[in-house]
Amino acid sequence: MRQVSEEQTRDPVVRARLFAEHELADRAGEFDRTGRLPRDVIRKMADEGLLGAAVPKRWGGHGLDPLAYGELTESVGKACASTRALLTVHTSLVCETLAERASDRLKGKYLTDLATGRRIGCFALSEAEAGSDAASVTTRYVKKGDIFVLDGRKKWISFAGIADLLLVFANDNGVSSAFLVERDMPGVEIHPMSGFLGNRATHIAEVSFTDVEVPAENLVSGIGLGFGFVANTALFHGRYSIAWAGVAIAQAALEVMCAYATEREQFGTRIGSHQLVQKMVADAVTQVAAARELCRRAGRLRLERSTDAVMATNIAKYFSSTIAQQVTSDAVQVLGGNGCWDQYPAERLFREAKILEIIEGTSQLQQLMIADYGYKKFAVRSRGGEDEVL
Ligand SMILES: Cc1cc2nc3c(=O)[nH]c(=O)nc-3n(C[C@H](O)[C@H](O)[C@H](O)COP(=O)(O)OP(=O)(O)OC[C@H]3O[C@@H](n4cnc5c(N)ncnc54)[C@H](O)[C@@H]3O)c2cc1C
Repeated sequence: MRQVSEEQTRDPVVRARLFAEHELADRAGEFDRTGRLPRDVIRKMADEGLLGAAVPKRWGGHGLDPLAYGELTESVGKACASTRALLTVHTSLVCETLAERASDRLKGKYLTDLATGRRIGCFALSEAEAGSDAASVTTRYVKKGDIFVLDGRKKWISFAGIADLLLVFANDNGVSSAFLVERDMPGVEIHPMSGFLGNRATHIAEVSFTDVEVPAENLVSGIGLGFGFVANTALFHGRYSIAWAGVAIAQAALEVMCAYATEREQFGTRIGSHQLVQKMVADAVTQVAAARELCRRAGRLRLERSTDAVMATNIAKYFSSTIAQQVTSDAVQVLGGNGCWDQYPAERLFREAKILEIIEGTSQLQQLMIADYGYKKFAVRSRGGEDEVL
């Protein structure tokens, strides 16, 4: 384990790494098996400032820049995918979005509590019939005087089982809006779900809303700004988190693969000396390095508030979730039978990696957006246009 100076222990990124190595790594298998993230772990994450890591200091967070927050996400994600998912949902999708899109009044009401972990937030967009086509949600809202009344049902909502606050997207005859709904508001019902491939400790649930009366001040940004503005902001932050999650899982798998290949012997020699095994290791080393650089590039563009940051984030998310799938599959391969057994971490990493290709916009949706960008950018160039390469 690396030595750290006293000054470094005050650095939130170093603290997150130490927390992940000491408190999470050995328990990730237990969280996966039991299907729950214990309260004491969430409490410690809050105490370490992890839950508000990317939230401005003014609202109780650490105000980390995107590069530092990415590094922090990698440390946590390498140790435990479900714990990292809490950062993705609570910190990236909910807190970062509110920091950017909510009024100061709404931030004062909720954001500091969220950033300090006094409340846990979740992101309620998807429905049984509205996944990739998320703009088509059928959860309805109606304005009645100074309240909004919500009716509908959300599916696959990570951490809804334990969250205090839900960022909910609803339509009124095609006009999409976003609302902050408290778990205890009358008419909100949580229905826990289980049996997932990965992210098993993320307290996923369906949530139903029956005549839920939400105060008008809990509208986020404004009427009509739900999907195109608030949800897109959230997904921009969520995809950045998932991009780093891919690096994290792939890095963990690479380490498992290398450790095993340099120990296990077959045919009288370490399996790592067989060239076909070396190819898998070489590919993994290269893919992890490339994915991390794409994430850093997205982070730098976000820091500069560049308009290219959105596409750089999509590219990083697509690439790193793809290589996480490949690297974890090769880790299972290198471990052979032990790779298929839950007494070794490779099979859990393999299951967790697949989830990244589904959430925050599937890989196919990323491909559509990246291809569209490619046509706009590079067709212009081939016709002699001046456009620059990203
Ligand atoms: C573990 C987990 C956690 C989740 N957490 C949350 C959460 O916290 N909040 C939330 O709101 N949602 C959450 N979701 C839902 C998730 O966002 C959706 O599953 C995802 O958006 C895909 O939607 P879908 O499952 O309906 O698949 P579909 O949209 O039905 O897609 C099925 C397949 O069709 C492909 N496809 C769809 N449209 C196109 C197209 N135009 N072109 C090419 N291919 C296409 C997809 O890529 C995919 O391969 C979670 C899901 C999982 C598995």
